[in-house]
Amino acid sequence: AIEFKDVEKSFGPTTVLKNLNFTVAPGERVTLIGPSGSGKTTILRLVMTLEELTGGYIYVDGKPLTFEERDGKRVELPKKRTREMTTRIGMVFQQFNLFPNMTALENIIEAPVHVLGKSKADASKEAKELLERVGLADKADAHPTRLSGGQQQRVAIARALAMSPEILLLDEVTSALDPELVGDVLGVLRDIAETTDITMLLVTHEMQFARDVSHRVMMFDSGQVLEEGPPDQIFNNPQHERTRSFLSSVL
Ligand code: ATP
Repeated sequence: AIEFKDVEKSFGPTTVLKNLNFTVAPGERVTLIGPSGSGKTTILRLVMTLEELTGGYIYVDGKPLTFEERDGKRVELPKKRTREMTTRIGMVFQQFNLFPNMTALENIIEAPVHVLGKSKADASKEAKELLERVGLADKADAHPTRLSGGQQQRVAIARALAMSPEILLLDEVTSALDPELVGDVLGVLRDIAETTDITMLLVTHEMQFARDVSHRVMMFDSGQVLEEGPPDQIFNNPQHERTRSFLSSVL
C-alpha cells in the first residue's frame, strides 16, 4: 500500500503539490491523469525517493518512507532505512534509462546481485526468464544501442521486475516510442497486470490501456485530485468540466 498524508512538494518558491492525501491499496492499480504540469510525475518520483519531500508524509505498507511524525515533529529517517524501503519499489521511466555500457542481461542482474546479494548464476537464470516473458529471449547479450526503443523499454520493465517489486511505478513509459512499438510494451504491462498482484501507480496518456488495467483513475489538476473513481466513471461520466475538456483533448 502507498499512503500520501498531507504531502507538499515545492521546487524552490514553486509549490507543485499541496495538502495531497490519497491511498493506493495493496494490489491496486491506479492511473494518474491530468494536464501537463499538474504534478503526476512528481508524485511517482516522490514515491521512488528521487525527489525530496518538502512537507507531509508518505507511507509504504504502513511504514514511513522518508519522514515520520515523532512527538508532533516531522523527523527525517536515516537514509539507510529509506533505501531498504525502496528496494521493493520499481520504476520505469519515459526514457528507458538503461545502463548503456551493459548488455540487456547485465542491466537486469545489476540490482539483484549488488543490492539483494544474489549469485550471478541465480540472477542470470531469473533474468533470462524475465527476458523471455517480455519477448526478448534472444536479446540477452545485446547492448541498449542495438535495441529499438520498445525493446529497451521491455528490458527496463524486466529490470524492474527482477527486484520482485511490491510496487511498480510507470511514468509515461510509451511516450517516447514510435507508435508501432507501443503495442508490444503495453502488451507486456497488461500481462503483468493480469498475472501478478503488484501494486501499480502509473501515468499514461494511453487512455484505452488505463481503462483496461486500472482499478481507479485519479484526475489531477494543479497538484490536487480533482476527481477519482473507477475508469468507467471517469471516462464515461466525468463530473468536472476540466476532466471533460482534458479527456476530449487526449482521446
Ligand atoms: P507532464 O505530463 O508534462 O510530465 P506532470 O503532471 O507529470 O506533467 P510534473 O512533471 O510532476 O507534472 O511537474 C509539475 C510541476 O513541477 C511543473 O510545473 C514543473 O515545471 C515543476 N517541476 C518539476 N520538476 C521540477 C524541478 N526539478 N525543478 C523545478 N520545477 C520542477
